[in-house]
Amino acid sequence: MSALKTTPVLWIVIPCYNEQEVLPVTAPLFLDELESMIREGLIAQNSRILFVDDGSKDSTWEIISSLSTQDPHYIGIRQSRNRGHQNAVLAGLMQSLDEADAAISIDCDGQDDIHVMSEMVRAYRNGSDIVYGVRSDRETDTFFKRTTAEAYYRLLDRMGVEVVFNHADYRLASSRVLRHLADFGEVNLYLRGIFPLIGYQSSIVAYKRKERISGTSHYPLGKMLSLAFDGITSLSTRPITIITGLGSVASVLGMIGILWAIVTALTGHSVAGWASTVCIVLFMGGLQLVSLGIIGTYVGKTYLETKHRPRYIISETTWEDEGKGGERDRVPALHEDRA
Ligand code: UDP
Ligand code: MG
Repeated sequence: MSALKTTPVLWIVIPCYNEQEVLPVTAPLFLDELESMIREGLIAQNSRILFVDDGSKDSTWEIISSLSTQDPHYIGIRQSRNRGHQNAVLAGLMQSLDEADAAISIDCDGQDDIHVMSEMVRAYRNGSDIVYGVRSDRETDTFFKRTTAEAYYRLLDRMGVEVVFNHADYRLASSRVLRHLADFGEVNLYLRGIFPLIGYQSSIVAYKRKERISGTSHYPLGKMLSLAFDGITSLSTRPITIITGLGSVASVLGMIGILWAIVTALTGHSVAGWASTVCIVLFMGGLQLVSLGIIGTYVGKTYLETKHRPRYIISETTWEDEGKGGERDRVPALHEDRA
C-alpha cells in the first residue's frame, strides 16, 4: 500500500492561545520544515500550516493574518472565543478534512521537536494511519510533573482507558482517521483517548520534549488536574463501579458494626466511647459525598452531551470565505492565493 500512496498533502495544525511572543519565532521554523519536506518530495507543494487562534486576547490573530500574507503556505482560522486546547486542535483537524491527506497537530511553543514531522510522514507513507509522537524522556520536567504524569498514565490504564504512554497531542492522522474522529461527537474531548479507539494501523516516533521557547504554560496545576479528570470520566465508567464496590464494603462493615453493638449491649458491655462513632459517621459521610460528586460529574457530562452544542465556532479565516456562516469553508488553492 505504501508505495501506491501519492505524495500526500500535509496540513500542520497548530493551536495558539496568547502566543504573540512565541509565534514570530516558531512560525518560520515550521515553514522551513514544511519546505524541506516539500523539497524532499515527502509531501505535496500545496501542503499548509494552519494556525488555530483559540480566541487569544493579545495580538496573536494579527500575527497570523500578517503571516498569511507573507507566504501562501501559512493559513489561519480564529475561534470566536477561547475554548481550550483540545477544541482548538479539533477545529483545525476538521478544517483540514477536505483538503489534506494527513494532518499533524503540534503545539506552537517549540516544545515538540518539529524535525520529527518528516519521520511521521515517512511512517504514514509506509502505511500508518496514526503516528503518535512520544516523549522519549521527561528530563525538562520537574520531578513533581514527571512522577504525577507517570502515575496518571498508570491510573488511566487501570481505569480501562487506552492511551499511548507519554504521548500528548503531537500526532499525525490520516484523513480517513479524521473522518472517523468527526463521528465521535463528544463535547468532553480528550483526543489522546479517542485516537486509539478509532483503530487502524498506528506507529510511534520518539522525540525529546524541550523547554518552552518563550512565554509561560497555559496548563497550570489546576487545568492539568481538570484535563486529567476529564480523561478518566470521559472515557471510563470504572470509577462508578469502584464506588459501588466501596459502598457495598462499607455497608457490610456497617452491618457487622450493628451486630457487634447488639451483642455488646446484650452481654452488658455497653460501649463507652462516642468518638469512634463520630469518626465512622464522618468517614461514611465523606465517602458518600465523594461518591455523589463522582456520580454527579457523570450526570453533568451526560447533560452537556445531550445538548449537542457546537464544539467550536470559527469566526474568521485568513482567506476570503464565500459561504459565510459555514463551519468549514474551502481554502483556496495555492495559485489562487493573494498576491
Ligand atoms: N492552547 C490553546 N488554548 C488554550 C490553552 C493553550 O490553544 O486555552 C495552546 C497553546 O497556545 C499551545 C498549546 O495549546 O500551542 C499547549 O499549551 P501550553 O504550551 O501552554 O501547555 P503545556 O505545553 O505547558 O502543556
Ligand atoms: Mg507547551
